[in-house]
Amino acid sequence: MLKKLHGLLEESYEEMISIRRYLHQYPELSFQETKTAAFIADFYQKLGIEFRSSVGGNGVVARVAGKKPGKTVALRADFDALPIQDEKDVPYKSKMDGVMHACGHDGHTATLLLLAKALNTLKDELEGEYVFIHQHAEEYAPGGAKPMIEDGCLDGVDAIFGTHLWATAPTGTIQYRVGPIMAAADRFEIVIQGKGGHGAQPHKTRDAIVAAAQLVIALQQIVARRVDPIESAVVTVGSFVADNAFNVIADKAKIIGTVRTFNEDVRDLIEKEIERVAGGITQASDCTYEYVYHRGYPAVVTHEAETRHVIQMAQTVDEVNRIEEIAPEMGGEDFAYYLQKVKGTFFFTGALADGVEVVYPHHHPKFDFDEKAMLIAAKTLGAAAIGYQSTAAEPEAATSVK
Ligand code: MN
Repeated sequence: MLKKLHGLLEESYEEMISIRRYLHQYPELSFQETKTAAFIADFYQKLGIEFRSSVGGNGVVARVAGKKPGKTVALRADFDALPIQDEKDVPYKSKMDGVMHACGHDGHTATLLLLAKALNTLKDELEGEYVFIHQHAEEYAPGGAKPMIEDGCLDGVDAIFGTHLWATAPTGTIQYRVGPIMAAADRFEIVIQGKGGHGAQPHKTRDAIVAAAQLVIALQQIVARRVDPIESAVVTVGSFVADNAFNVIADKAKIIGTVRTFNEDVRDLIEKEIERVAGGITQASDCTYEYVYHRGYPAVVTHEAETRHVIQMAQTVDEVNRIEEIAPEMGGEDFAYYLQKVKGTFFFTGALADGVEVVYPHHHPKFDFDEKAMLIAAKTLGAAAIGYQSTAAEPEAATSVK
């Protein structure tokens, strides 16, 4: 069965490339991807595959049911682009001014469409059911995953698999991690209100700069003295604004920072601790504060059995020559939400061709990836999906999802 699937995917490789290049020329920004969604819907329509449009926004979800009963496995690809001017010199360069597929989501979409087509061809021989989640708006929080889940895209799903084409890892490489693989990325703002006045009469003022400076120092103790040393976290103040004349005591100061975590409890703790420290410091300084904590996506935390399963299935893919465990990435991904609901994993598929001299990273105006990686991603995801039918059911206790 895997041989057949991989054969079908190889036959569809040209179509995969042409779809990817078409999408690359017509990118759309997050939450505005109506034409891309229509393109995806049209693809399923023509094949007679059951699908639902406008899922949680611009999302499209298709389903292929095998003839025999089995588990329901979801596969996800995102399809939004970025507000970046395409500076590549290739025939499939973006035709949309200031919009570019600079993260490879065009490739994710082409990969999933052709994989769905191949599984549909094989459906009479398949067990279980396959759900193809085409997700809008990954790049822009609050993202498309959450509303799509709320709109039922995971209903009845037993496990989910997803991959990101990774243009900084060599083609043929599959990178995985059990547990947290991508961070929760949050932002906070604290405005300290003092009482401004003459620089020569400090006793008649409440200096917002002195209070804010103490606060910046005090925030450093959160990771050092509040977070369990076995966990990891970052609290960074990236902006401190209290613009004033040299002889004036600041009325107001504003600090903005980011928090990165891999564990929800640590995330909650830091959110509370920042406020506690801000409250204490400002009280001691006789100032007041306003605090806002913006939550980005939570950490992407993979499940062990499903991750091991993907690693095992990746070995059936001829083009895969290296499977490696990686350190967590500090970037964010709303695939996190799916993994909070059902078991599954998220991995990286290397997409850097041999001999490329200058590597442009994701979100760069000259970003591009090795298209061969799409075939590898399709084969790996397809093998993971089909192969999941024969994985043993685990006891309830071991499968409970937080
Ligand atoms: Mn991306």
